[in-house]
Parts: sequence; C-alpha cells; structure tokens
Amino acid sequence: MRPPELTPLFASADVLKGVGPHVMTLLKKALRMPPGITQPRVIDLLWHLPTGVIDRRAEPTVAAAIPGTIATLKVRILKHKAPPRGNTKAPYKVATEDETGRLDLVFFRAQRSFVERQLPVGEERYVSGRVERYGETLQMAHPDYIVAPEARADLPLLEPVYPMTAGLSGKVLLKAERQALDRAPVLSEWQNAPWLKERGWPSFHDALRRLHHPDDAADVSAGSTPLQRLAYDELLANQLALGIVRESFKAQRGRPVKGDGRLRERIATALPFSLTNSQRTALKEIEADMGAPRRMLRLLQGDVGSGKTVVALLAMTTAVEAGAQAALMAPTEVLARQHAETIAPLADAAGLRVGLLTGREKGRPRDELLGRLASGEIDILIGTHALFQDDVVFHDLAFAVIDEQHRFGVHQRLALQTKGGDGGANMLVMTATPIPRTLLMTHYGDLEVSKLTEKPAGRKPIVTKQISNTLIEKLIARIKAQLAEGAQVYWVCPLIESSDVSDLAAAEERHAHLTQVLGEGVGLLHGGMNAAAKDATMAAFADGNLKVLVATTVIEVGVNVPNANIMVIEHAERFGLAQLHQLRGRVGRGSRESFCMLLHAEPLTKTAQERLAMMEETEDGFLIAEKDLELRGGGEVLGARQSGDAEFRVAGGANYAELLSAAHDDARMILASDPSLTTARGEALRRLLYLFECDEAIRLFRAA
Ligand code: ADP
Ligand code: MG
Repeated sequence: MRPPELTPLFASADVLKGVGPHVMTLLKKALRMPPGITQPRVIDLLWHLPTGVIDRRAEPTVAAAIPGTIATLKVRILKHKAPPRGNTKAPYKVATEDETGRLDLVFFRAQRSFVERQLPVGEERYVSGRVERYGETLQMAHPDYIVAPEARADLPLLEPVYPMTAGLSGKVLLKAERQALDRAPVLSEWQNAPWLKERGWPSFHDALRRLHHPDDAADVSAGSTPLQRLAYDELLANQLALGIVRESFKAQRGRPVKGDGRLRERIATALPFSLTNSQRTALKEIEADMGAPRRMLRLLQGDVGSGKTVVALLAMTTAVEAGAQAALMAPTEVLARQHAETIAPLADAAGLRVGLLTGREKGRPRDELLGRLASGEIDILIGTHALFQDDVVFHDLAFAVIDEQHRFGVHQRLALQTKGGDGGANMLVMTATPIPRTLLMTHYGDLEVSKLTEKPAGRKPIVTKQISNTLIEKLIARIKAQLAEGAQVYWVCPLIESSDVSDLAAAEERHAHLTQVLGEGVGLLHGGMNAAAKDATMAAFADGNLKVLVATTVIEVGVNVPNANIMVIEHAERFGLAQLHQLRGRVGRGSRESFCMLLHAEPLTKTAQERLAMMEETEDGFLIAEKDLELRGGGEVLGARQSGDAEFRVAGGANYAELLSAAHDDARMILASDPSLTTARGEALRRLLYLFECDEAIRLFRAA
C-alpha cells in the first residue's frame, strides 16, 4: 500500500540511535501525534519543527570573544584543576588557550572521569557555549558542545531549538531529529513548478533540511519559506483527501433511505413541545438527502440550545423506519450518556431499541450489545469514540450522526462513515460552533449545511454581566440568596495554561471554598474523574440533589440541565469568545430567569474588554463567532487550537487562510484534470497523501 520509500519514516522512533523506552515516553509527551497513534514514529519527529535557533557561528579567537555571547572556540587543553577533595561546591576548572589568550572551562558538580575523557591535556577541542568574564579571566561554564577537531561536523553551528518536555534532553532530541532527517527520502516534486517559483519555495526535502538543519536563522522563524512550503503541502494533502472523499461520496450510489413516518409520528406525540420552523426545515433537508440515491454529507449548524438532538433523533428514526440502523457519536462519555438518557423515553414511546457503547462498556454486557448490534436487534447505537473499534459491526448502518464535530479528526469521521453497509453510511455532522467558511473548507471541502436559526419558544434571554474578581464574595452572597429560591449554578473554573493538574487544583480549591460558604450541595466535576464518578455527579446535579456544580471546562459541550440558571465563569478573560458562548448556552434552558456572570481579573487588555462587552451585548452565536475571528485572526481558528484538535501538523498555529484557498483551488484543478492521479504529478501527489497520512482517502479512492 504505502510506497516503500516512505517506510523508513513510518518506523517507530525507537529505531533511532539514542531513543530507548525512556526517551520514547518523553517523546510521546513532546510530539503531537495524529489520533489513534500511540507510539512516536520517525515522521512525528520530522513534523516536530523547531521554533528558533541558537547561533553558534561566531568563531572568534579567545581574545576577541565577547563576554555574554554564545561562541565556538578552538582551544588547546592545558591543565585540569580539580576541586580539593571533599569540597563539592568548588568548581572543576580546565585551563585552555589559543594563540591569543586563555579560557577557563568551568564545571560544577562535575563527574571527574567525564571531564578528563572529554578534555585530554595537550589536545585541541572545539568548545561552544556562553562566554563570560569572571574577574580577570574569560570562562565558559558547562560548554554545550565539546568536540574533537575531526568531529567538527557534529557541532551544530545553527542549533535548532525544539519545543521540549520536562526531562527530555535537547541533545538527545536533536540527535534523533538529525537521524529522522537522514531518513527523509528525496521525493519527486508534487507541487507545480511555476507556483513554487513564484513563491520562492524550496523542495520538500530541502524545506525539511532547512528547518531541522538550518544554515539560516530566518528559515526557522514564523512564516519562513520552508515553513510555508510544508504548510502548503499539508493543506494541499488535506484538500485533496477531502476532494477524493467527496468524489467517492458522490460516485457511490448509496441507497435511498425513506421512512414512512409512523415512528416519527409517535415521537412527535411524545415530545413535550412542537418543533421550531428551523427544526422542521432542517429535517426536511436531511430527509431529502437521505431519500436521494446518493450518499449524504450534511452539516447541521445550530447554536447551543437550538435543539439539534431532537432533529438527530427524528432523522435517525427515519433510518429505522426504513429497516436500517443509525448511530450517534458524541465526543465525551458524559455527553453520550446524556444523549442516551434524553432519547430513552422518546425511543420507548416509539418502540425503538437503543444501545449505549462507550469505553466503559466491557466484558459480557459489551459482547451482548455487539451481538445485538450485529444481528440488527439494536436500532440506534449511541456512543463515543468506542464506536470506531473494529469489532463494532452493524447489521445495516444507514445513517450516522456526529455531535459537536470539531472534537473529531477527519480520519475518525471517515472511519465511522465506512462502518455503513455497501461502503458507507449517510452522515450528519452537528455543531454548535458556527464554523467560518475557511474552516469548513479544511474539514470537508464543500458540503451542504442546514442551520437552526431560531431558539425553541419560551427561551428567556440570559442576563450577562462582567464582574471584577474583587467582587467575588458579593457574588457568592447573591448566589446564596438565589439558591434559596431553587436556582442551580454552574461554576466554571479557569483554564490554566500549562498543566491540567493546576486546573484541577483551582477547581478543588473553589469547591472547598463554596462548600464552606454555601454548605452542602456543591459538587465537583473535572476531567480527571473516572467516568462513573462523572456520571454520578452529573446525575446528582440534573436531579437537583446538587445545587452548585463546580467544573473545569468538561461541561463545555452539550450538557443539558434545564433547571440550571446561573453560569459563573472564573477568569472569563482567558476563554475564547466561542467557548464563553458555549458555556453560557448551558443555562437559559428552563423557565427561570438566567444569568451568566463573567468574573475577570484586572486590569483587562483592550481585546479582553471587547470580548466581554460582546458577550454582554449579544447572544447571537453567529455574531459572536464573527467577532471572535476578527479579534483573534483566522489562523488561530484554523489551527483549531482552542478545541484541542491536533489535526494539522504544520499548517496549524499561524495564519494560512490565504494558502488554504489556494490549496482548495489547486486540489479541485488537480482532481478535475487527473481524477485518478495517474499522471507523473498524480503519482507524486499520492506520496504526499501518504506522507500526511490521508490513507483513508486513498483507500476510498481505490474503492471508487
Ligand atoms: P443543542 O442544539 O445545544 O444540542 P439540545 O438538543 O440539547 O440543544 O436542546 C436543548 C433543549 O431544548 C433540550 O432540553 C430540548 O429538549 C429542548 N428543545 C429542543 N427543541 C425544542 C423545541 N422545538 N421547543 C422547545 N424546546 C426544545
Ligand atoms: Mg447538543
């Protein structure tokens, strides 16, 4: 399948010298790997790009070395001056010189044998590191490099600096990166020659070399030509893969799925409300897609609380009416369970058999469930990523719904789609994030969109207010009064940048504090809890046994507790607008007047002020999304960092919107003129697809 010249890149990283089990563990933390990959591979090292360089090119004589700068010096070793025995604090010094002056190499807590081996008296060595003046003498403490004259090539004159993780040594990583680079094959060019020329971009191999083995510091800076080249490669691979998927969707006939309405009728009767006009329209669009003799790929976009779930349920019911099965996949366990619970009474009313499959279902019950799924005794399967597992086999999956799509990678979405009989199921993807067009393009290319534009009747506006941190006790006092009247409160603790552990600590602290002031009935929900504990806590809150739910952002997506009417967000200034909007959408679902309190630190930056003011002004998710884009710039949204979506290896993080549209057009042109990728460029492009692991697309492509 994969072209053999790429094999060395997909080998496990522990084939490299210096990479053993311990380093692998560290690499796992330092490298971003695509979903489903657990062991770092050579290619993951290649995509782990440096963020800067240390410049060791200055090679002055000792006399000319400038204190405070990094320099590489060629010196002769004169003498070792070990510290007196028993004095561990005194440094170990090695006197060296060149024809212009003296330089002391200084080691604290040195291992004597190591220093002696590295610096034999009478020989010459290159040493590289920071030169400092110490009284009258010039010295270098702990040189970064000590190499013999004949090994000079090992000394990286421009040393790339990589994102690190605690415990991983820079030298070990550098060495691994060098080996990874050595394994990178020279491949035939897949980009258009004139386009490369116009942009001044290097070849793929050259781009990698200029980043991992730079001889120009500018190459490693943001937006450099080698970076652009690789980002464009990735975007083009992505657009091509999507184009191929789309074509295969269109090409495969797919069977028309038509219901007779009898089950939907029963659900409609059991619903305590009538559908909004948008919900009706969306359903019509979805049903038209399903009934047509081609496969469906549609996005259902609707603000939080707009009622996507019931649309999904009714659409899934159509598939069941047609004698087939449907699946609903949610990004988290909590959500999957909640969907199952919401759907259960309605499904009962219609006689639908619903199953739930998450990572928690194990052993006998799981086997039984899978058995019933395979024999067609389950009509609707609700679950998490667990649905992707190989042994999850449907009797006849005709319709798959993915909730809150931005949490899933393209590969995962494709994988679910292929669980359908005859090569694919109709797909409906639901999201509350009004996705900007550019982002949609990266994820799907063109696809059809239904929008839920109205909120269900009876919704009350949510009063949103920003308040300074300093007034927190006052706020708590007011909340206490509200609780006495039956209110329920979400209290979201801040996102702390670097580590999850401190996220948790902050939440725990707040939980303890609120318990102290408000008494019993304050719960805590965080990502580190096991699933059973999470469910129990959510259930207690939903039942009203807990009055206040202190949570890290795990409640961000989809949770529905209509009685909850107050949302407090601590350090609201640290959240993105879209995220604030999502969080706020958890309240305002019942009959009580609802509030969203945005606690913030002082002083606020201008952007933060604008953001919070925007939240106070409007509840319109589309307006907010636009403003968000404007305030943060497209790049960040494109990189989708805020959702933890590691889909892009190179093209994330910076602003590549312009390159994206170019890649989009390019991919279209390529597939129009060479639909089977059989020309010379087509062959090269296949390699590109493999490089960026769009294997699923290639598989589909073959099937088509
Ligand atoms: P989201 O689009 O955020 O996923 P949900 O599907 O969770 O929204 O719906 C939010 C709430 O609105 C649920 O309690 C649901 O029962 C209710 N709901 C959905 N549609 C309507 C409607 N047409 N009228 C009244 N309530 C509705
Ligand atoms: Mg939802």
